[in-house]
Amino acid sequence: MAVSVELTHVTKAFDTTLAVNDVSLKIETGEFFFLLGPSGCGKSTFLRIVAGFYKPDTGELRFDDTVMNNVPPHQRNTGMVFQNYALWPHMSVAENIEYGLTLRKLDKAERNEKITRALEMVQMEGYHDRAVNTLSGGQQQRIALARALVIEPSVLLLDEPISNLDAALRQQMRDEIKQIHDRTNITMFYVTHDQVDALSMADRMAIMQDGVIIQVGTPREVYQFPKNAFVASFVGETNFISGKVEQASNGSATIDTPIGTLRSETVYHELTTGTPVQCSIRPESLIINSAQDSGSQPENRITAKVTAVNYLGRIEEYQLIAADIPLKAVHYNPGTETKKPGDTVQLAISAAAVLPLPD
Ligand code: ATP
Repeated sequence: MAVSVELTHVTKAFDTTLAVNDVSLKIETGEFFFLLGPSGCGKSTFLRIVAGFYKPDTGELRFDDTVMNNVPPHQRNTGMVFQNYALWPHMSVAENIEYGLTLRKLDKAERNEKITRALEMVQMEGYHDRAVNTLSGGQQQRIALARALVIEPSVLLLDEPISNLDAALRQQMRDEIKQIHDRTNITMFYVTHDQVDALSMADRMAIMQDGVIIQVGTPREVYQFPKNAFVASFVGETNFISGKVEQASNGSATIDTPIGTLRSETVYHELTTGTPVQCSIRPESLIINSAQDSGSQPENRITAKVTAVNYLGRIEEYQLIAADIPLKAVHYNPGTETKKPGDTVQLAISAAAVLPLPD
């Protein structure tokens, strides 16, 4: 049975490093929840607290209504999948998967049935007898998943499970892991520094920095309404233009910046005249027009110079400079017409795409 996982004011320190700093968070039953943050922010420590390998210094961990602080790892019914697979290389696929079932004292027929079902779930039917060290990295990671799933865990914990795979296989495994979640409805908790993992699979995600949870939300909420400049730059790419609020009211503001006054219609922080802000503008929101194109929409117009163009087929990336501020723009479905380095262009930015964030 899947459970909810709740941490209340959990702290864990190593000497003077506060790896997890007063974190309160609830992962709902059946949720696919991601913890996303840069290297060293405390993700693995957090996951190990949930698994039971570390005990919190303070605070409480619950699975549903049960306090888990003193429950040893093997009594938590958690499955784990690691980046390095952690399989026994000289055992067969079936022997690797069977281990957890033997510990639970299931009879042979039941073990075989569960192994077969777990292999089907990760699309590795018929691989029972293969030695693990004859499998590819992607296949080994599927077996690691099958081994974690076969015990029908209350929570499945995944620590950077696909980071060792090449780009194409990573994308395939993202689809498969998401499908496994959708089919099983297990509570899944996945820690990663890879925003694409989180954006593409998460029901909700938490962004962590220096042991603290900065923001929790759906991928869409976090991408569209980042709480601060760190989240805006860590989840997706963005341009920052620093400035000072001229005036703000009713969800809109004008901001004085080195490239002129920017108008924003997406103000969701407390802003008053004079507040220093970083205006976040996603590369896909910078529309490039010709220098002489006067256009009627949208209202923010900036003159910029193209410094580099990177054609990638499906998209075209532009490096630009405006009043000494480097900017990046992305165009989808680029046609045959292109701007060249050295061209002067007009950038148009919708007021809805300018996000003034606290400095
Ligand atoms: P990565 O993505 O690189 O694995 P992470 O976000 O998982 O990083 P943690 O491994 O949780 O981060 O580490 C958080 C902080 O706690 C780091 O500063 C790390 O050096 C420190 N730390 C983690 N484990 C220990 C330990 N056993 N002893 C001392 N310090 C530790």
